[in-house]
Amino acid sequence: DKHHFYRDTWAEIDLDKISQNIKSFKKHLPDKKIMAVVKANGYGHGAYQIAREALESGAEWLAVALLDEALALRKQGITAPILVMNRVRPEYVNLAAENEISITVFQKDWLVEAETYLMDTSYQPLNIHLKIDTGMGRVGVNDENELYAITQYMNQSALFHLEGVFTHFATADEWESALFEKQRKKFIKYINLLQEWGIKPSLIHSANSAAALRKVEGPFNLVRLGISMYGLAPSGELKKDLPFSLEEAFSLHSQLIHVKKLMPGDTVSYGATYTAKGEEWVGTLPIGYADGWQRRLSPGAFVLINGERMPIIGRICMDQCIVRLPEKMSVGEVATLIGGQKDKRIEMDEIAGIAKTINYEIPCLISARVPRVYV
Ligand code: PLP
Repeated sequence: DKHHFYRDTWAEIDLDKISQNIKSFKKHLPDKKIMAVVKANGYGHGAYQIAREALESGAEWLAVALLDEALALRKQGITAPILVMNRVRPEYVNLAAENEISITVFQKDWLVEAETYLMDTSYQPLNIHLKIDTGMGRVGVNDENELYAITQYMNQSALFHLEGVFTHFATADEWESALFEKQRKKFIKYINLLQEWGIKPSLIHSANSAAALRKVEGPFNLVRLGISMYGLAPSGELKKDLPFSLEEAFSLHSQLIHVKKLMPGDTVSYGATYTAKGEEWVGTLPIGYADGWQRRLSPGAFVLINGERMPIIGRICMDQCIVRLPEKMSVGEVATLIGGQKDKRIEMDEIAGIAKTINYEIPCLISARVPRVYV
């Protein structure tokens, strides 16, 4: 359905694939709750649509990075529990409390400040997930005394409810990692300490996609699924040995807006980096780096037209790029930049490889001006 836009480039999001991936995880980890990670507009797939599909397919929780992202989901009518994983300023806690949004805490000073704001609202207590830094080195409590101080402070205040404790792995996507083992053990140690102090949060979580695929052992009852829910493997290493197949939900399409014949010596695009050797047919696609189709993808990337691979040639412009065609083709012909046509596929990982990055970055960077169509 193309009624809400007027351009010849769009992304298609296959929601059935999201559902299939969630259901595969439910079978793989029957005793774990699933938190669907929909930050960054659902890794570029659309936070609201992915959230709805994930919840319908068996996820019970949502996670985002920012309070703004959680509030947007609430405004769109999502009532499921949501965790904000990044730090929220203490002065905004009432917004979180009033919208029943759980937030991440890892500083005692934060609690002291937040208390003064929470006193002004009747929406209490505020649900908190305590973040432990077991080795990621980004945010989180990484000291036992600090852990004690924070939990004692929370205990003596009626304004806070410790709903969860969690950590995040830095190297779960590598099969053999000493850091991963160290992080896992430190987390278990901290959970045991909390138990000794009589603190039993209902949710304990550490696994991202990579750890969830590997069925990490421990006292955990929830997994946070991002990349794998979208059908992408967390790393090349894990991709070789997945416990079940992941189904890519995202595809990217455009249409030829101009077709022409080049004569020997003719060049295309900025810098005239491509020169026709003989007579050649080429076509222009209305997608460029402002759409997130990065300049460094040419030379290197291909598109599929009629189920055949054709190279992007010359520089990718802000709004357009050019492909070499095997023969004359019609304006309006559909070109698939990511995804399948007939029996051929261009995987997200191929594009990530050409851009010298990870698959996560590709759909995140497909910009807002590329409409998302849900099928
Ligand atoms: N948990 C946290 C704290 C994260 O920052 C992220 C994403 O970066 C995830 C879970 C999801 O990770 P993945 O997409 O690898 O499943």
